Amino acid sequence: MKIGLVSLGCSKNLIDTQNALSFLKASGHTFVSDPKKADVIIVNTCGFIESAKQESINTILEMADYKQHRCKKLIAMGCLVQRYRRELEEELPEVDRFISIDEYRDMEKILNETLASETICQREIVLATEPYTSYLRIADGCSNHCTFCAIPLIRGRYTSVPFEEVLENARQLQAIGVKELNIIAQDSTMYGKDLYGRLRLHELLIELNKMDFHWIRVLYMYPDEIYDGLLDSMASLKKVIPYFDIPSQHGSDRILKLMNRRGRKQDIQKTVRDIREKFADPILRTTVIVGFPSETDEDFRQLMDLTEEIRWDRLGAFAYSREEGTGACRLPDQVDEKTAQKRLDELMQRQSQISLENNQRYEGSTIEVLVERKKSFNSPYYQGRGWMHAPDDIDGHVFFRSDQALEPGQFVEVEIERAEIYDLFGREKRKEG
Ligand code: SF4
Repeated sequence: MKIGLVSLGCSKNLIDTQNALSFLKASGHTFVSDPKKADVIIVNTCGFIESAKQESINTILEMADYKQHRCKKLIAMGCLVQRYRRELEEELPEVDRFISIDEYRDMEKILNETLASETICQREIVLATEPYTSYLRIADGCSNHCTFCAIPLIRGRYTSVPFEEVLENARQLQAIGVKELNIIAQDSTMYGKDLYGRLRLHELLIELNKMDFHWIRVLYMYPDEIYDGLLDSMASLKKVIPYFDIPSQHGSDRILKLMNRRGRKQDIQKTVRDIREKFADPILRTTVIVGFPSETDEDFRQLMDLTEEIRWDRLGAFAYSREEGTGACRLPDQVDEKTAQKRLDELMQRQSQISLENNQRYEGSTIEVLVERKKSFNSPYYQGRGWMHAPDDIDGHVFFRSDQALEPGQFVEVEIERAEIYDLFGREKRKEG
């Protein structure tokens, strides 16, 4: 069976796609990128904010058109399905089968039922990303209940993947040649608390560092759980890179409280201070929300001040989106769209300047780069990423010239000549002799 798969949304959704692919590949199915050639199309939906929901529905409708070609069945899964399955079942008759998160392990069976045949096989890992890089999920769900966020409603309570299972999954990735491992969860620093009664991310990193990966990066670290033992381990483990992705969400204590975030502005400041004391040149990345209900000019000013003070290397900002069923949805004084957008523009304009200045620190230095692809067949230019660039939409790339033929997944040294807001530009450093 030829399967076409479209995955929308964040890297956590992408890893679900990866798992789904694993179950299907094990059963002998193949994957095609052209939907015209697919027998079955699966859309992995995202339900994070309003625009993502709309994009998911549009994609489902777009893919439904391929049923006029070869495609026999259309399947939808992912966060939006998890949350609105009943409504979607009523409104999207084009979809033959909706699959909830707890049914992913039965993908093969469901597919066969949908196509009225039956075979179940053993599973091996298949990557939805390039073969040299992968995400490694260490937990699912979230128990934090930030008032703006629907994730706990969609994915349930925080549940760590058992320690040995994480290591076994990592061994499989190592065996198929993955060099860059990106650890994810809705809240990575919480790892272990639910299963073992203590935070165990540092213990995981110690074990993963013994494996044959080149870079290990941790994403989504809740600020108040970045404990000393974790920082000390990260500082001593060679393959674990000093990359800190810390969703801070706001700079006003009043708004942080309304968001039901643990920790306040001074805790965020202390976490950043601790990191900067222990690491010579860390990357600091955050996400924030502007236009949260009742956010005043003064609250926004405090967010701007904190941004100015910390000088994050990367900052992803969203205008608040009212999510059904969440605490913030019921709060009075919703901020109008125009004001939220104006604040978002002001913040991003300032952040662009900070990101550019921070990025310029690499000019004149040599950095190790993971080659991703040649820009075009005849060109001597390549695209890659440095350790400071996670493989997602927030971070940038390194574009460089090389006179040798390079392969995706190879590591090379690049002399950086110029920096822009997101990207770095340079040339491959020739080896002496
Ligand atoms: S930590 Fe907060 S924002 Fe992140 S997934 Fe959990 S509830 Fe949502």
